[in-house]
Amino acid sequence: MADKRDYYEVLGVQKGAGEDELKKAYRKLARKYHPDLNKDNPEAADKFKEVNEAYEVLSDKDKRAKYDQFGFAGVDPSYGGGAGAGGFGGGFDMGDLGDLFGSFFGGGRSQRRNAPQRGESIRQTVVLSFEEAAFGCEKEITVERIETCGDCGGTGAAKGTTAETCPNCRGTGVVTQTQRTPLGMFQTQGACPNCRGTGKIIKKPCPKCGGQGRVRKTRKFKVNIPAGIDDGQSIQQRGQGNAGANGGPAGDLYVTVAIRPHPIFTRDGSDVYVEIPISFAQAALGDTLQVPTIDGRVEYKVPEGTQTGTMFRMRGKGIQNVNGRGRGDQYVRVNIEVPKNLTDKQKKLLREFEETSTDENQIKRKSFWDKVKDALKDK
Ligand SMILES: [Zn+2]
Ligand SMILES: [Zn+2]
Repeated sequence: MADKRDYYEVLGVQKGAGEDELKKAYRKLARKYHPDLNKDNPEAADKFKEVNEAYEVLSDKDKRAKYDQFGFAGVDPSYGGGAGAGGFGGGFDMGDLGDLFGSFFGGGRSQRRNAPQRGESIRQTVVLSFEEAAFGCEKEITVERIETCGDCGGTGAAKGTTAETCPNCRGTGVVTQTQRTPLGMFQTQGACPNCRGTGKIIKKPCPKCGGQGRVRKTRKFKVNIPAGIDDGQSIQQRGQGNAGANGGPAGDLYVTVAIRPHPIFTRDGSDVYVEIPISFAQAALGDTLQVPTIDGRVEYKVPEGTQTGTMFRMRGKGIQNVNGRGRGDQYVRVNIEVPKNLTDKQKKLLREFEETSTDENQIKRKSFWDKVKDALKDK
């Protein structure tokens, strides 16, 4: 890890490089070092990995920001327990890369099916209430995933039998083929047609999995949701995705959070917003409000002469930061409600009030009409 190269250096771009420039640099290098094109160059595989890792971080806005700020410690959870929020959003998803290469090599990748393959990652959404997200909770989720068949231990052969080595490819699962690709003609290894790339011939398939070695299972999980998690964020459960094939590792399970709206609170990150209607008299005279917060009601003094739309900040009354460090604030916006359905007595009192009202009471109104006077004089 110590001799890791800077990601920008790996891709050969400047620190401020835009998305397109990154993508271009990445494609060029990925093509240059792709293992299928560098069979005789063992260093290429490492370069290829390095390039992929650099692009994986720099092409993700959040990860790039963390990398710019904290270096490798910001993006690699294995790097000295640094600034990463313990397992969030990290992880290197080979599944996505597979898709990418499938598309730019026209699916002409080698079809060696007996090589260890990592299982696919699974995404599952969990719906939380505003409070559950704010305070954290434990949720049970049901996941349908692919697991290694218990009856045959993943071999696909029925109990008491074993799979035989394919004579056509001698168990390698591959035969060499010449292929035409957008990059020219070159040799690739294709799947052996006799064993469909598995390298094995199963005479008597396992009845439980039909010889696949993997079965679909429904599992229930308890997931700890940390306090402060926000809409759209995911919790990564390593190794809880689909089982790998041929001894490959399992994929991961990503539990993505969707938060239901709250009837009075809205949130932006760890800050909470609430709008409170107050009366004209409360605003003019000042009052102590019982402001709702996620912890319950809190008294807050609104001063005399408060204008409509004024936003007050209640420090530390927001939601706990998901990294456990501190809390956000609550912002309270007061809106003055103009009274309706007045009784005759109320109207009379208000007219009396208006008659006694002076420019000192209505500073904005005075200054506006002064400006009007000045502006219209010119015409
Ligand atoms: Zn089986
Ligand atoms: Zn074969």
